[in-house]
Amino acid sequence: MTPIRLWSPLPLLIRPDSMLTFSLPPSRAVPALEALVRQRILILDGAMGTQIQALGLSEEDYAGCGCRHHAERPQKGNNDLLILTQPQAIEEIHFRYAMAGADIVETNTFSATTIAQADYGMEGAVEDLNREGARLVRRALDRATALDGRPRFVAGAVGPTNRTASISPDVNDPGYRAVSFDDLRAAYGTQVRALIAGGADLILIETIFDTLNAKAAIFACFEAFAEAGRRLPLMISGTITDASGRTLSGQTPTAFWHSVRHARPFTVGLNCALGAAAMRPHLAELAGVADAAICAYPNAGLPNAFGQYDEGPDETAAQVARFAREGLVNVVGGCCGTTPDHVRAIADAVADLAPRTLA
Ligand SMILES: [Zn+2]
Repeated sequence: MTPIRLWSPLPLLIRPDSMLTFSLPPSRAVPALEALVRQRILILDGAMGTQIQALGLSEEDYAGCGCRHHAERPQKGNNDLLILTQPQAIEEIHFRYAMAGADIVETNTFSATTIAQADYGMEGAVEDLNREGARLVRRALDRATALDGRPRFVAGAVGPTNRTASISPDVNDPGYRAVSFDDLRAAYGTQVRALIAGGADLILIETIFDTLNAKAAIFACFEAFAEAGRRLPLMISGTITDASGRTLSGQTPTAFWHSVRHARPFTVGLNCALGAAAMRPHLAELAGVADAAICAYPNAGLPNAFGQYDEGPDETAAQVARFAREGLVNVVGGCCGTTPDHVRAIADAVADLAPRTLA
């Protein structure tokens, strides 16, 4: 008996398909991204947190006086809220990353879901956060492009939330879940629709520690794409959180790929938790199985006793260049602890190196 072939060899990126999502017309960014990713290694930006910390903002700065969203709880630490209360500062960080060489710049919306914002009582702000977050990046990138003519892309950043759909937070009740697939799907749906409304060119589902959360995000993206009448490229990035090389929900990079492959992402990859050196074997495993472009954005090494990252731009860049020399990557950037200097060093280090070959 001939087995039914669910997956023809992927000519990568986005193929036509009978499934609704894949029959939608691609968004405007798709042809340009597809061409660029075959020409060279693309550069993603670096961390927001480090840059925001350097601003030394107070509670009043975070909460803002003119923000129409107001909660009784303190807002210091709610970095996403700065999109609305300190837009110029956030736009400036995006602009610095763009000028450092980033082709793809992420919105400051890692925690801009109703689920994650509930900690701050700011659930009502999520639509504004995501729409304005995408607009801020677009403005910063247009300013950079006006200076050098290089095209740049807005990645709507979608974080994992602070809850996990696969694992019980209560050791005495292993069947308990703090969040369901449908809760996540609804929260991600609100986020992704607003990111698209604000002009996101692609959606980056990142720092995935629980694949079920990510699957809810993918599902929400497909629903939002159907409503918008166009497909945006998806970037999907997992996080290896323990020494055995697995995600928090227990998957190896290979298992992770097979769990998200149905989304036919533009890129699949790894970010956060590890520095580049520790990430390398897991990235090599993923690159060995995945028929999508590969994206890696490690932390600036491992945090020191004070939670700060000490790895300098040259060291991070040297290791990321090693990924490239081994033919493992198509998109590279930085996660926690990285700065515009790290991104500039990474961009310089891979500028003359060939991207991983795509089918
Ligand atoms: Zn990180």
